[in-house]
Amino acid sequence: MITLPMPFRLKHVHVFAVVHDGSVSLFDTGMNTPETFSMLEESLKSIGRDIRDIERIFITHFHTDHCGIAGRIQEISGAAVAMSEMDAQRICNDQKKGLDFDQVKKFYREQGLREKIIDNLLEILISFRKATIPFKVDMNLEDRGSQKVGERDFEAISVPGHTTGQMCFFFRREGILLSGDHILPQITPNLSPDPYNPGFRPLKSFLDSLGRVEDLPAVKVYPAHGDPFSNLKARVEEIREHHRERKGLVLESVKGGPKTTYQVSLDIFGRDLPEFDQFLAVNETYVHLLELLEEGLIKQKMSGHHLIHSAA
Ligand SMILES: [Zn+2]
Repeated sequence: MITLPMPFRLKHVHVFAVVHDGSVSLFDTGMNTPETFSMLEESLKSIGRDIRDIERIFITHFHTDHCGIAGRIQEISGAAVAMSEMDAQRICNDQKKGLDFDQVKKFYREQGLREKIIDNLLEILISFRKATIPFKVDMNLEDRGSQKVGERDFEAISVPGHTTGQMCFFFRREGILLSGDHILPQITPNLSPDPYNPGFRPLKSFLDSLGRVEDLPAVKVYPAHGDPFSNLKARVEEIREHHRERKGLVLESVKGGPKTTYQVSLDIFGRDLPEFDQFLAVNETYVHLLELLEEGLIKQKMSGHHLIHSAA
């Protein structure tokens, strides 16, 4: 496990190196910053390896803290990159077509976010997109597909939710689960609508995906952020409980009177959030509202530019 720095509130991301046959398989890469690259270099040096020894890179999901320097490593070592087709497609969309800003703007305006916050948000999204060095995806990881790294093998498990193509990697013989951002020890991963997949139900997918890993015979779970832990099933249950509770709070808020997503998010997360967190809060609230709508507990209608939720 190699812990790399990040210039965010989440101050680190863990990546994993498996050494075999004189070469290295890397699981996630860290962000595209000079500090990340030199720390990765140092860490490999401390085990007698080099960036040039990286033969393959397996990526859990498309976020820039997980694959930001895959392109740079690939250029140096010729490493083959493997990730889910869904997330590879997402990177391709982001880099080639670019986000449909009008569509993103329209969506967040409907949710009631203020115009100034939306404009700032778009700039952040553009900078995130540029943060990942382009790379070539050599192989798409299939759900339950088995991969060999030297003497070891692992299964790639598809766990959509945090992203549509999020993957976990399970080393069955060793009982080691690399959980990426799917299961974290202290926080739950951000859930947000996918601008390219309007039919995607992030919360439903995420909860279904918890069920896809909870019974794995994992001795130790290595998340991308936070300390490794061993109580997988108990942690999964905690996360379920958290979302049940939050969905209850969202419903309570809507029962209090018709509101935009942003107004509901104020009831849940308070009024003092920094701008970017307001955006995250709106996303998190939105994915819960989506499920309440599916369950027939709330209804929605447009009023001017705003989408209004009310009790059914
Ligand atoms: Zn992520």
